[in-house]
Amino acid sequence: MRVIKLDKTKLVEYLRSLEEWGEVWGPVRKGEKFVFAKKDPSEFDLTARRTILPPKKFFVPPRFTMFSYRDGRWEEEFDESRRIIFGLHPCDIFGILILDRLFMEHYPDPYYIKRRKNTAILGFSCLPDEKCFCIATNTHSVEEGFDLFFSDVEGEFYLVWVGSSLGDDLTRIREDLFDEDVTEEDIERYIEWRRKRDKMFKTDLDLTGMPEIVEISYKRPIWEKIGEACLSCGSCSMVCPTCNCYNVVDENVFYEERIKRDRHWDSCMFKEYSLVAGGHNFREKRSDRLKLFYTHKLTGFMSQFGKPACVGCGRCVDACPVGINVPNVAKALKGEKVDAIWARGEE
Ligand code: SF4
Ligand code: SF4
Repeated sequence: MRVIKLDKTKLVEYLRSLEEWGEVWGPVRKGEKFVFAKKDPSEFDLTARRTILPPKKFFVPPRFTMFSYRDGRWEEEFDESRRIIFGLHPCDIFGILILDRLFMEHYPDPYYIKRRKNTAILGFSCLPDEKCFCIATNTHSVEEGFDLFFSDVEGEFYLVWVGSSLGDDLTRIREDLFDEDVTEEDIERYIEWRRKRDKMFKTDLDLTGMPEIVEISYKRPIWEKIGEACLSCGSCSMVCPTCNCYNVVDENVFYEERIKRDRHWDSCMFKEYSLVAGGHNFREKRSDRLKLFYTHKLTGFMSQFGKPACVGCGRCVDACPVGINVPNVAKALKGEKVDAIWARGEE
C-alpha cells in the first residue's frame, strides 16, 4: 500500500478537484449532530464523530425503486451516479465491508453492487468520544475497504494511505498536491498518535466470550427485563451501519400508468416484521425481537464470518431513548448491574 502526504491547507482544493470524478459528499454539522451531505468541501466538518445515519444510506437507500412495469414491459432502475464519500471513520468502513459480504458474496444484489462500484471511499481518522467502543470490537483501525484513507497525525500534513487502484487514480487527478516523502519523523508521529488515540477510549467494555454468553443466555429472564424497557421504536436498527432488513412493496402509480416495486428499510424490532400470512407472529414479544437483534450483532455473524456484526460505532448508544445498546446489554448478560435495564419494572 502506498503512503503519501497532503498538506492540510490543500485538502479542500484537492476534494474540489475530485468533483470531476463524481459527487463529493462529506460530514456536515446538523444542529448538535452530523450528517453526510453533498456540499462544497469547505463545509465538511472534520471534527464529526458519528453521523446520524451511517453510510449504508448510499448503498441501500432508505427507500428506492427497483423496477417499474409499464405497457407489458418491466425495466430496472439503477442509480448510475458516481459518488465520493469523504470522512468515513474506520468503524463505518468495517460496516461497509460487512454489507459487502452480505450483498455481494452470498446473495449478489445488483442494486447494491451498482452503487458500491460507483462509489469511492475516502476514510478519515478520528478520536473517540465516550460513546465509541470500536476498540472492543477491534474496528478502530482499518487496513482495507477504502480507496484513500487520510490520517490526521497532528502535524502540517495528512498521511494518506492509497488502498486501491481507484484511490491511486484519484490521487493522480492532482498529483502535484501530494508529497511522496514520508520521513522517519512522520512515522514516529503516526505511531505516537495511535498510542494517544487508544488511550482516549473511555469504554471498559470487554466482549471476549460474548458469542458463547449470548448463546447460553437465550432462555434467561434477563431478556424479558430488557424487553420491558424497549419501546420497539426501531431507532437502533435504522442507525446501525450493519442492519440491513428491508421490505418490498408494489405500488400502482395510476397517473404514470405504471406499477413500481420499491424497497425500503425495515426493522426486526417492529412487531409486524415477523408477522406472516395467517396472522402468526414468530416474534410477538419485544424480548424475542431483542434476542434476535443481539444474537445477530454479537454471535450470529461470528459463526458465519468470524467477526461480530457490531462495529462499535456507538450509534445505538446515541439513538436508543431508553439506553438499550450493545455495551449495556453485553454488561447485563455478564451480570453487571445496568440502570437502563434494572431500574425499570420490578427489581
Ligand atoms: S450495534 Fe450499535 S454500536 Fe454496534 S454497529 Fe450497530 S449501531 Fe453501531
Ligand atoms: S432497543 Fe431502544 S432503539 Fe431499539 S427498538 Fe428498543 S427502544 Fe427503540
